[in-house]
Amino acid sequence: MKIIVKKTGNRGRGVFAARALRKGEFILSLKGKVISTEEMLAASKYHLDHMGAIGKDLCMIFGYPEKYINHSCSPNVFERNRELFAMKTIKKGEELFYDYAISDVDDQWSMRCKCGSRNCRKVINGHFFQLPLNIKVKYYPYLDDWFKKEFRHELKPIKRLWNDKCKKEAKHKKRR
Ligand SMILES: [Zn+2]
Repeated sequence: MKIIVKKTGNRGRGVFAARALRKGEFILSLKGKVISTEEMLAASKYHLDHMGAIGKDLCMIFGYPEKYINHSCSPNVFERNRELFAMKTIKKGEELFYDYAISDVDDQWSMRCKCGSRNCRKVINGHFFQLPLNIKVKYYPYLDDWFKKEFRHELKPIKRLWNDKCKKEAKHKKRR
């Protein structure tokens, strides 16, 4: 088993690595209930806190165990095309976090964040385009396919910056 659900100190339950995870490693498939945006508007606060966009006008009410993955402004996992992957190397016992604003445009929902990371946004919502520009560029490779397709126009300048960043890093590597 790759993960384990446990109680955290102050965030309710959380999901932890049961063993070390490699950067880019597949962790699990999301198997929640898929609903329309219309149905989402009628959902309870509990469900609203445990769901995410998975397509145009489609949301998923997360199932077990992914609904227990907490948010951090410095995430170590990401969800793409209904699958969860490690964003970086994760040590055994480390808690898994994703950023709720990746691949979503929900500015109705918000939450006070106490993740404690250096770049904590304090109050978070689920709206990718309201993120600071440097964060949008950093998250570009983690976006869902449907999101890239749906917002290809809005994402153009971000994609360009991401490509520039990759080129710069490649040059830097060569020089070393
Ligand atoms: Zn935070």
